[in-house]
Amino acid sequence: MMKPKLLISACLCGKNTKYNGKNNLIPQIEQLERLYDFVLICPEVMGGLPIPRDPSEIKGDLVLSKTGTDVTQNFILGAQKALELVKKHQVQVALLKESSPSCGVHMIYNGNFNGEKISGSGITTQVLKENGVKVYSEDEIHLLLNQNS
Ligand code: SF4
Repeated sequence: MMKPKLLISACLCGKNTKYNGKNNLIPQIEQLERLYDFVLICPEVMGGLPIPRDPSEIKGDLVLSKTGTDVTQNFILGAQKALELVKKHQVQVALLKESSPSCGVHMIYNGNFNGEKISGSGITTQVLKENGVKVYSEDEIHLLLNQNS
């Protein structure tokens, strides 16, 4: 039986792609890998940003780094590349890192770098949702695990 594809944030798989050079490995990764074929993305790296990098937050129509650099175009490019992978691999479901300015699903930081969150989605998540991809956060993994049990 062919496994369904799952677009997944690379940092959730243990790849050190975070702004600080670390990862967000989730404990259920092996369980998920038995059920899905992973398509890894890190939109910020795919958009040309280095590791490590300054953290960024969405502020209005822009994405700004903590030092004030406008990285909006990097984030848009990363989202476009993620969408290309979705189309190439015919992905319908994604598991992305909550609260990231790229990958956030239900929450993002408020743009003031004060640790406060507001409801909203990251740039890549917005593009994927607009294109019909069902996007889950790591807080909703149980839904992905139950679907195939
Ligand atoms: Fe993880 Fe997404 Fe940030 Fe890349 S852009 S480090 S995949 S949350």
